[in-house]
Amino acid sequence: MNPTPEEFPAHVEHAALEHAGLENGGLEFDAYAVDLERDLVSPEAEIDERQIEAALRPRRLAEFIGQARVREQLSLMLESALRRQRTPDHMLMSGPPGLGKTTLAMIIAGELGAPLRITSGPALERAGDLAAILSTLSEGEVLFIDEIHRMARPAEEMLYLAMEDFRVDIIVGKGPGATAIPLDIAPFTLVGATTRAGLLPAPLRDRFGFTAHMDFYDVAELERVLKRSARLLRVPLPEDAAHEIARRSRGTPRIANRLLRRVRDFSEVRAGGELTREIASTALDLYEVDGEGLDRLDRAVLGALLRKFGGGPVGLSTLAVAVGEESETVEVVAEPFLVRQGLLARTPRGRVATALAWAHLGLTPPPDAFGAALFD
Ligand code: ADP
Repeated sequence: MNPTPEEFPAHVEHAALEHAGLENGGLEFDAYAVDLERDLVSPEAEIDERQIEAALRPRRLAEFIGQARVREQLSLMLESALRRQRTPDHMLMSGPPGLGKTTLAMIIAGELGAPLRITSGPALERAGDLAAILSTLSEGEVLFIDEIHRMARPAEEMLYLAMEDFRVDIIVGKGPGATAIPLDIAPFTLVGATTRAGLLPAPLRDRFGFTAHMDFYDVAELERVLKRSARLLRVPLPEDAAHEIARRSRGTPRIANRLLRRVRDFSEVRAGGELTREIASTALDLYEVDGEGLDRLDRAVLGALLRKFGGGPVGLSTLAVAVGEESETVEVVAEPFLVRQGLLARTPRGRVATALAWAHLGLTPPPDAFGAALFD
């Protein structure tokens, strides 16, 4: 099958909708439930946002903006697999939320003209949950497991064998009388996504033939994302307004698309449909997105680090308690961006604020703030 540039094959579209929880009222996918109170610049997708996201997803590799190296590597792998008529190696997408991991998984299936099955680590609580999926895969199918680091251990062990030998052992009975019945499964390609590659056990990590390290997007790339989305949403978006939104999007396409829709709302309701850089900027101020695109959690983490711990060094868990969040949220969601912006450094002794962080919050660092800590 050769999908047209404009459309995913029907089965990929179907899987995408299922992923969005739109085919079952969103109930089964509670692993994806998110706090709707979260900030406008939270990189996690909100439930009602997924349908719009599905419409804005690039469908072919050539349409995928940025991540040039990953795109090039993927394109080689896919082309070679297609030529040899073999399923490509298993692939791992690693990086913070909202950077395009799911989109890439869908593109992989689309480019291969292969069916796509989507599930997530938290949904695979027992080995049986995974066996049910693996045993019904068709040849060449792409299996996407989001948040793969959150899969239960027995399912993970079953996955090792499946990835390596396209086989699962179904255990029948219990205790000493239990027997393993081997079951062949169709050759498939696993695409795993994780925000925490470091948590993947080595045997699982080693079974991926390719790892895509996704990084935050730069402003020019986000401008291209925004222009593409504006075209699809029929929003007239001048260059400088695109730049203003891109600058404040936290390096994340999901956030760029969300801010675009909020700016459009503002322009329609308050500015008679006019959209200039000033109007975009006023709208973003109104929605409390700061000049660097820092969200409430980012600012809370920085604020605590500076005001409560004098700029650090402070341990991750202490910092997380100070902002009332899980350590994982602070580590996966806030920190990568703060580090990338040069506002926070991770040192062996703990988290440390940089001079830029003090300046960003308009605070004066204590005289000894940049002593040994940063350079230990
Ligand atoms: P992740 O799985 O990493 O959390 P997604 O793949 O769901 O992120 O991407 C979130 C949204 O951002 C998608 O709906 C898509 O519209 C947009 N997006 C992500 N990457 C790109 C890109 N490279 N080019 C254009 N849009 C993108």
